[in-house]
Amino acid sequence: MSGMIDAKRRKQILARQRSTIYSQGEPYLGAYYTDEEIKAVVDTIRASMDPSIGFIGSLRGKYVEGNPLEKFEREFADFCGTKHCIAINGAGTGLDMAMMALDLEPGDEVIVPAINFRAAPLAVIGQGGKVVWCEVDERTFQADPADVERRITPRTRAIFPVHMNGLSAPMDELLDIAERHPHPKHGPLKVIGDAARACGGKYRGTRIGKKGWMTVFSFHSMKNMTTLGEGGAITTDDDELAERLKDIRQFGATTGRRWGTNYKMTTVQAAVGSVQLRRLDEMIERRRRIAHERNKLLEGVPELTLPYEPPDCWHTFYLYTCLVPEGWAGEKRDKLVKIMGEDYGVGCVVANPPQYREVPLLGQLTVGQDLPRSNKLGERLFCLSIHPLMTTEDNEYVCAALIETVERIREGSA
Ligand SMILES: *Cc1c(COP(=O)(O)O)cnc(C)c1O
Repeated sequence: MSGMIDAKRRKQILARQRSTIYSQGEPYLGAYYTDEEIKAVVDTIRASMDPSIGFIGSLRGKYVEGNPLEKFEREFADFCGTKHCIAINGAGTGLDMAMMALDLEPGDEVIVPAINFRAAPLAVIGQGGKVVWCEVDERTFQADPADVERRITPRTRAIFPVHMNGLSAPMDELLDIAERHPHPKHGPLKVIGDAARACGGKYRGTRIGKKGWMTVFSFHSMKNMTTLGEGGAITTDDDELAERLKDIRQFGATTGRRWGTNYKMTTVQAAVGSVQLRRLDEMIERRRRIAHERNKLLEGVPELTLPYEPPDCWHTFYLYTCLVPEGWAGEKRDKLVKIMGEDYGVGCVVANPPQYREVPLLGQLTVGQDLPRSNKLGERLFCLSIHPLMTTEDNEYVCAALIETVERIREGSA
């Protein structure tokens, strides 16, 4: 009935001392640092102290071993298998840059999954575009290609999937749709990925970041890897686009012919990024081990639908996303999240309900668009705390708490 944890064992596990590591549903620090990152910070500051050598935050600077920013960009591009990487100060600005590169005209539409984080739709609006929501697949939470195709109009400029909660979007299907429905003036639709939650993930033999016109990554402290709290990158194989993005990032400095501002990552962040990138697969493997162990511990709990990993994907498990049954949508799901936090000290987040419901501004600007499947999923999903440093014992506690909570709700004793 309740996976590998029977009632007796559950009692033993729940009697254990609680840990703070599972107290947050989406931990504020999603990666972790080692002495290597600390050394990288100190070394980079030292290297920048000689005014003839360079200074923090610069694209210039005659660093002995090369500019840390350019070094990190090379490494990240190689990691993703792309020609270019443009390191920036965050994914939010990166998504804005992506929309700037589209040169949207009034009335132009961009298709965005409703189950999403607010950043991508806000970026569309920020550049004067119209957000057209699409449904997601119920098992993967990724943009549903068939639904995307139905929503294309002559005004559609781009498909803007998010690699939701650490898993890849179905890029090949989306790229195929983009080819088959060219915009009358701009040609094939652009496919732009928001990979803020999915750095390091794999899809059909490639890393996330390889497919599509460009992909935007976040190195905010909550993500799979981090560059001292903030940071991001954009990958692309398109030379012209890379030049445009570099112009935007640094006051039009590459060509001198276009608008730009300052969205650069600092060299200290980049030096840390090089170390984190080297350690990224190990941190993801830890997440994966916990997720797979958890799948076994929770197997057989009839009310829970556990995360699905398609055979052609390597899930990073940025979040461990579950569903409650349809009959538990809304109120009972909320109760589950509340009990987990209050009675067991286990954080759960609802990541994320349809963005037109979660963000009033987005609701206002997309009035009349209401997606039944996304509405339902938004009332059924919850994400159970996960972190690369969780031990098997932490994981057992989290699972025992969830099994007991489900039982209490099932029996109406909660
Ligand atoms: C965190 C996040 C962002 C924003 O990233 P920042 O680097 O904090 O700007 C964008 N999209 C998604 C899906 C995210 O989870």
